[in-house]
Amino acid sequence: MTPTKRFNGQLKKPKLFNSPLALMAKGFQAHQERQQQLGLLGKPLARRAQRRCELCEAAGVALQPYEVPPAPAEPALETTLLLCDTCTEQIEDSRKRQPARWRCLESAVWSTEPAVQVAAVRLLRQLSDHDWARETLQGIDLEPEIEAWVVKEP
Ligand SMILES: [Zn+2]
Repeated sequence: MTPTKRFNGQLKKPKLFNSPLALMAKGFQAHQERQQQLGLLGKPLARRAQRRCELCEAAGVALQPYEVPPAPAEPALETTLLLCDTCTEQIEDSRKRQPARWRCLESAVWSTEPAVQVAAVRLLRQLSDHDWARETLQGIDLEPEIEAWVVKEP
């Protein structure tokens, strides 16, 4: 009998595969791809928003796409808003929120654009310790599919 070297069934994983650095690079790449896809929505978004922030209606300021969570696998026009930097920043960081500036939601919540309505209702609910926010919410009847989206976890 001659000894043969047998494959023991174990494959060595390339070291980089699961390293934190590789995962970070992967995450970064996914983010870049998403930004690129979002960029493609820029024109139709600008047309829909008429080059104004879709929540506070600011014009003549920088506007950027904002995906209303939960984001679908591929960015879509129906789930993306065009927002000014201030709106985006204050949505993402509740500590930076200036309640008075969000009175703009009193009209935004009536938007016929579902994504605008969803973002507005979510913010109003978070601001519901203010009378005006509560009253605005009381005055509006939400379609069941809008309500379902509002309460969907990101
Ligand atoms: Zn804005």
